[in-house]
Amino acid sequence: MRFFRRGTSEPQEPGSEAPDAQAPETADDLIGEEWRRVSAEPEDVEADEEAIAAAEPVAPSPPESAAEPEAPPEPESEPATEPEPAGQPEPEPGAQWAWGADWSPEKADAARRERELQQLEEGLEKSRTGFGARLRGAFGSGDDADWDEIEEILITGDVGAAFSMDLVERARKRKNVTAEVAVREELAGLLTARDAAHWEPTPATEGGPGIVLVVGVNGTGKTTTIGKLAARERANGRRVVLAAADTFRAAAIDQLRIWAQRTDSEIVAHAPYADPAAVVFDALDAAIARHADLLIADTAGRLHTKSNLMDELSKVRRVINKRLPGAKVETFFVLDATTGQNGLAQAKAFHEAVGLTGVVLTKLDSTAKGGIVFAIERELGVPVRFVGVGEKAEDLLPFDPESFVAALFD
Ligand code: GDP
Repeated sequence: MRFFRRGTSEPQEPGSEAPDAQAPETADDLIGEEWRRVSAEPEDVEADEEAIAAAEPVAPSPPESAAEPEAPPEPESEPATEPEPAGQPEPEPGAQWAWGADWSPEKADAARRERELQQLEEGLEKSRTGFGARLRGAFGSGDDADWDEIEEILITGDVGAAFSMDLVERARKRKNVTAEVAVREELAGLLTARDAAHWEPTPATEGGPGIVLVVGVNGTGKTTTIGKLAARERANGRRVVLAAADTFRAAAIDQLRIWAQRTDSEIVAHAPYADPAAVVFDALDAAIARHADLLIADTAGRLHTKSNLMDELSKVRRVINKRLPGAKVETFFVLDATTGQNGLAQAKAFHEAVGLTGVVLTKLDSTAKGGIVFAIERELGVPVRFVGVGEKAEDLLPFDPESFVAALFD
C-alpha cells in the first residue's frame, strides 16, 4: 500500500510524511500531521479548489507496452509495525496448479463461474428457503396454482405491490406453460437488459483508468463493498487506487485504509472534513501516474438534501472532467437488501439526484426476501452489478440474472 502526498503523484513512503509517527493506528495518525494541517483548515479547502481550478487537463501517459510483462510494483520499505501486504495476486493460480498441463484461461474461468454459482446458492440460502420455497409451494403440481397466494408471496418477498399484481395478471394469462415457468419468466423479464453478463472496469478515457464513484447511505456496506471490489479486481491482476472521499467520517477513512492494506491497493486520503473533490482529484492524479486500471472513490455517505448531494457529486465529476476531459464515470449505489422497500426509496432518491449506472446489493445473505432485486431493476432501470453475500473479501459476486433466478428457484 502506498500513500500520496497532496498535490503530487509521487508515492509517499508511509511514515515519511510524519517522521515520528511510526505506528499509524488511527485515521489521523495515518494521514499524518502535514496532511491534517494542509487539509483541515477552511482556507485550505479554498486552496484545494484553487489548485483544482488552476490544473490543466493532462492526457494520461501511454500505458506500458502490452507486449512487455507488467513490471511488479517496486518493493517498499514498510514500517516495522505495518503488516506484510499480500503479494501481487496472479489470476487463478490455484486452478493452474491443480490442472497442470490441462490449465487454460477458459477452464479457469469456467471453474470460477461454477464456484461463484455455488457461493451464490449458499448466500441465497435464506431467500431460497423463504421466498423461493414459498413460491414453489404455491405453484401446485398442475393447473392448481394459487394465484392469490403467489401474489401475496411476491409482495411480502419485496418485489413490490404494483409489480407483483401486474406480474401475476400477466403470468396467469399465459397459455401452454406451467405457473412456475410463467412466474419465473415474468420475474426475469423485470430485470434490465445488460450489454455484458459481467461487469468489468472500462477505461474512463482511452488509456486512462476506469472510474467508479460509490454512493450509498452509511451502514449499508459501502466501505466493505469497495474493499471487496478492490480485492476482486486485484485478483484479476488489475491495479487499483482507492480514494477516501467520504471525508465526513474519520472512521470510514481508517476502514478504507485497512481494505487497501488487505488488498494491496493504493489509497489516497486527506484529513477528515477535507473537500471530497480534492481527494478524488489527487487520487485520479495518482491513478494516472501509476497506470492504475481502476479508481474506486468512496463518496457521500449521506443524503441530507438532494441539492447538497448533487453539488458534492457534480463537483467531483467536474474535477474528474478537468483532469480527464470526457471521462466516462460510473456511479454505483450500495443498497442493503435487508432494508427492502425503504432501501428502494433511497435508491430512487440517489438516482434522481446523481444518476446511477449500477447497483450493488449487499447483505443478500441476511434476508429471506430476495425479491428486492427485481423491484430495483424494474423501478430504476439500472442493473444490479454485484451482490454481497457475506462480510469477507471474496463475498462479492457478479450479478447474473439467469444464475440468480436459477439459484432462487432450483
Ligand atoms: P458503510 O457504513 O456503508 O461503509 O458500511 P460498512 O462497510 O461499514 O458495513 C456495515 C456492516 O455491514 C459491517 O459490519 C459489514 O461487515 C457488514 N456487511 C457489509 N456487506 C455485507 C454483506 O454482504 N453481508 C453481510 N452479512 N454483512 C455485510
